[in-house]
Amino acid sequence: MHEHASTAGRQAMGTRLHCRAMLQSRPIKHCRRCGTAVDYRVPPEDNRARAVCPACGEIHYENPLNVVGTLPVWGEQVLLCRRAIEPRRGLWTLPAGFMELGETVAEGAVRETTEEAGARIALDGLFAVMNVVPAGQVHFFYRARMLDETLDPGPETLEARLFREDEIPWEQIAFRTVRQTLQHYFDCRRSGQYTLHCADIT
Ligand SMILES: [Zn+2]
Repeated sequence: MHEHASTAGRQAMGTRLHCRAMLQSRPIKHCRRCGTAVDYRVPPEDNRARAVCPACGEIHYENPLNVVGTLPVWGEQVLLCRRAIEPRRGLWTLPAGFMELGETVAEGAVRETTEEAGARIALDGLFAVMNVVPAGQVHFFYRARMLDETLDPGPETLEARLFREDEIPWEQIAFRTVRQTLQHYFDCRRSGQYTLHCADIT
């Protein structure tokens, strides 16, 4: 999972705590249409600053990104991936990444699981939806059944392996949303009832 927006986002928050609408986690410098340096200002009849091109008038709207992934299960064990890329290189995460244009949330979750872990899975239902407001992201995780034990980590993953609950490296989990999703999974498994976990990180 990339969260490349989050560091810049936190820095922006530090200097603009008084105005969250000004969060610029993905600042735009140049016009996508003509290449001129943009100005951030509130367009007529709008209510927040946008990257506006002073040459051609193009307005660049910035909106949250979806991060989509899975919690793959093999028997009593769950699959985690150790990150080969920043941020949080070397820490453990669930397979997940930015949704691409032209795919559904479910398709993106399966694709990321294939790319990062090389696991073959079947989805078992949407399990967690979390707003990560400071990063401008929404994270979605599906429960998934592994179809076999095959793992073939991609270039973004140092290592992919299965963990029993008592083996989970809780102090080395890369992201808060991943920790919450795992905790919710083990709680649900104990209760025998899998419910959708919704949370806001603000
Ligand atoms: Zn322009």
